[in-house]
Amino acid sequence: MLDFDSAQSRLAAAGGHPSITENCPLVQARGRVLAQTLFATLDLPPADNSAMDGYAIRHADYEPGRSLPVQQRCYAGVKPQALQPGNTIRLFTGSLLPEHADTIVMQEDAEEVDNALTIHRPPAKGAHIRYRGEDIRAGDQVFAKGTLLGASQIAMLASQGYAELSVYAQLKVGILTTGDELVNPGQPRGDEHIYNSNGAMLAALVENMGARAVHVLHALDTEASLHEAFETLLQDCDLVLTVGGVSVGEKDLVKPAIEQFGGTLDLWRVSMKPGKPVALAHAANKPIVCLPGNPVSAFAVFTTLVSTLIRSMQGRAQVMPILQYGRLCTQKTFNDSREEFLRVSARPDASGVMQLTPHTQQGSGIISSLSWASGLARIPANTPVQDGAIVPYYDFQHWLA
Ligand code: AMP
Ligand code: MG
Repeated sequence: MLDFDSAQSRLAAAGGHPSITENCPLVQARGRVLAQTLFATLDLPPADNSAMDGYAIRHADYEPGRSLPVQQRCYAGVKPQALQPGNTIRLFTGSLLPEHADTIVMQEDAEEVDNALTIHRPPAKGAHIRYRGEDIRAGDQVFAKGTLLGASQIAMLASQGYAELSVYAQLKVGILTTGDELVNPGQPRGDEHIYNSNGAMLAALVENMGARAVHVLHALDTEASLHEAFETLLQDCDLVLTVGGVSVGEKDLVKPAIEQFGGTLDLWRVSMKPGKPVALAHAANKPIVCLPGNPVSAFAVFTTLVSTLIRSMQGRAQVMPILQYGRLCTQKTFNDSREEFLRVSARPDASGVMQLTPHTQQGSGIISSLSWASGLARIPANTPVQDGAIVPYYDFQHWLA
């Protein structure tokens, strides 16, 4: 048996770094991974400007009760004139600061009558100005290679004028479900059949991480069917995920099928519940991860183990998402010889501490518990764990992103 942490770090290191890059328009870059470290092309903001709707003055011109003629009304997007001594220029949020102005008076602190301004409250010198370069300086590093691009990164890159980015090619993942008892949704189902949940589930998990599920194949529990599927998958994909057929049952033929392609099995039987039978192999220089067949087990193994491998093969700098902690909320005592990953629903209590309530049915066949849960609570092996214990919490929002 391999302990969970070793399995996780070995899987995270089991794939290669992406080698193919492509150019991607900024507006389509969400979910892609930067293949190049990017630097600021300009100061941000590029020029001093107003943070308020108001009036630009020279601070030295202020005297209580003095009226300043309004020299210009300068909207955002218009070039201001140089401010004349004793005058003011009407500005709006984002208007450029006129030359010789050093202070903005908020419109709420002043009154304009017949094109002349009276200021009611003594202004602080330098107030309400956004200074050139206060956000970022030309030449500063904006984002390192390996950054996952989301809305906030895209906003930053847009502000720097980047219209196209060099990103890694999307990881191509092949999915293989196995089992004579399975039929795909939409096909006729006999009493001896169940619908194939894992194919669609894994495709969704893969696509949700910004990778492409290029094949979702199903093989019968025969050597020939498995062989044919592996031929396609190893040809077209960077990573292959198989589900089911890796135990020690008579029909567990995935292992021999991989061996036929020269694959060597790297690890076997992770000490985790659900999910014991997990295997890692390499064939044709590509990693193959064999997941347990039960959909709940496959989901847990994908979340905690496979997602790290995918992030690393995508070239992402952050392979391990943040791990949170929460307080277990239960009437049971948990104690197992394997580490247990409970499906839990996390809710903060009144003081903000995360309360982790386990689903009442923790069997690996309970598919309904997956959509109920917000993540997995990790229970150590061989240690009785009860209500109130603080345990690691793998939030799906972080671990499946
Ligand atoms: P196996 O590891 O192939 O023995 O599968 C373990 C359990 O998971 C069995 O009850 C299978 O019927 C079930 N199972 C395997 N693959 C799938 C799938 N794609 N969808 C739903 N259930 C599955
Ligand atoms: Mg099977």
